[in-house]
Amino acid sequence: MNRPVIQPGTPCLVTGGAGFIGSNIVDRLLEGGAYVRVLDDLSTGRLENLPLGADRFELLEGSITESSTCERACAGMDLVFHQAALPSVERSVLEPAATHAVDATGTLNVLCAAKEAGVVRLVYAGSSSAYGDTPELPKHEGMATNPKSPYAAAKLAGEMYCRVFSEVYDFETVVLRYFNIYGPRQDPTSQYSAVIPIFMAAAMAGEEVRINGDGEQTRDFTYVDNAVDANVLAATAPASAASGRVFNVGCGERTSINTLWTEIRDIVGTGAEAVYGPARAGDVRDSLADMTHIRRELGYQPAVALSDGLRRTCAWFGQRQQSVST
Ligand code: NAD
Repeated sequence: MNRPVIQPGTPCLVTGGAGFIGSNIVDRLLEGGAYVRVLDDLSTGRLENLPLGADRFELLEGSITESSTCERACAGMDLVFHQAALPSVERSVLEPAATHAVDATGTLNVLCAAKEAGVVRLVYAGSSSAYGDTPELPKHEGMATNPKSPYAAAKLAGEMYCRVFSEVYDFETVVLRYFNIYGPRQDPTSQYSAVIPIFMAAAMAGEEVRINGDGEQTRDFTYVDNAVDANVLAATAPASAASGRVFNVGCGERTSINTLWTEIRDIVGTGAEAVYGPARAGDVRDSLADMTHIRRELGYQPAVALSDGLRRTCAWFGQRQQSVST
């Protein structure tokens, strides 16, 4: 698959653009010649992820919980890549109202502002957590949803609003349900960090990792470049194929946490060990994406496989550690 691109000069808003996935989208858009505005409150995002001072780039620091900020952010934009969210299951269990305010109400604010500003299309960062703990695998978009955490419920509410805006207002939205995205810029230091950056940082430091549960739970790990491809395809596909639709974004392969840890240990070349603790509240047991729909409708293929993605991520962590220590 050739890497998909946006037309040069297209004005694009990336909410949450200072975060892990958002900043990787920003880089791809700028590379293709788009004009990029980021709206981010820097709650989990970082300025160092952004090309501050670059041509065709602008940062608007503010929150999607403020309607007027969303209106300013959407003015003059053709495309919106809506990535901003409080993206942690664990945090949502502790702070459900805060998660709802950003992930559900914030999404509604962005949708209202985008529609009023005449944005052509909004692509939404949905979540595979919408499927919950149903035993059926792989998860396909036609399945009933079954959120198991406040995070999953709020992300699903945002998704519902996207679909309703397409139906009621004829406003083009595309929902992408991400399955465990990983890669450069994912933060290993937050208490809510995802498993790959935590494992990688521990392996590089030669420290033991803690595995929640027995480690036989599985995930469909997806390299961030694949998710960026999916975003660009969703933004550029004909409306008849994309608008009002929901697409899984994964690799179509599942890997257990134990296998993942072994792969990372091998790549890093460490003898660090794993210790096992209790399973986490709100976590699902198994996850695997059915890729039929996105392959057929958007022409998406997961270009980077797990072993390659882990190697690239490891190289990035290594470079980052070097630049921090020099
Ligand atoms: P991230 O924390 O790196 O990025 C989220 C960004 O949103 C950050 O830059 C943060 O500062 C910003 N943000 C948070 N609250 C905001 C607010 N009120 N106003 C403006 N900006 C705000 O997380 P990520 O992993 O890059 O996640 C991006 C999106 O993808 C989220 O919507 C998340 O729910 C979704 N998602 C991620 C994964 C994954 O595996 N990483 C899986 C499923 C869904």
